[in-house]
Amino acid sequence: MTESWMAEALCRHFPMQTWIVEPEDRTSASTAALSAVCLSCPVRPACAGYVLRKGIVSGFWAGADRSPSNVTDRADGAA
Ligand code: SF4
Repeated sequence: MTESWMAEALCRHFPMQTWIVEPEDRTSASTAALSAVCLSCPVRPACAGYVLRKGIVSGFWAGADRSPSNVTDRADGAA
């Protein structure tokens, strides 16, 4: 499902593969690059809310890796 804020997402200007690569396949430099894009993104708050509402547990969203081992803020309260 596409939401209106997604039209302004900075990550739209980068290859999708960049955002869904498995955490173990990322380098510290690539993680820093993703974080920098998210920090500059005008819709980061909306993105962060979206991942919580949807319970997303993969990919890199709103400045953070959303893999299950890294997610501590699930909307349903589960760890
Ligand atoms: S905060 Fe990051 S992942 Fe979310 S829309 Fe912006 S660039 Fe994409």
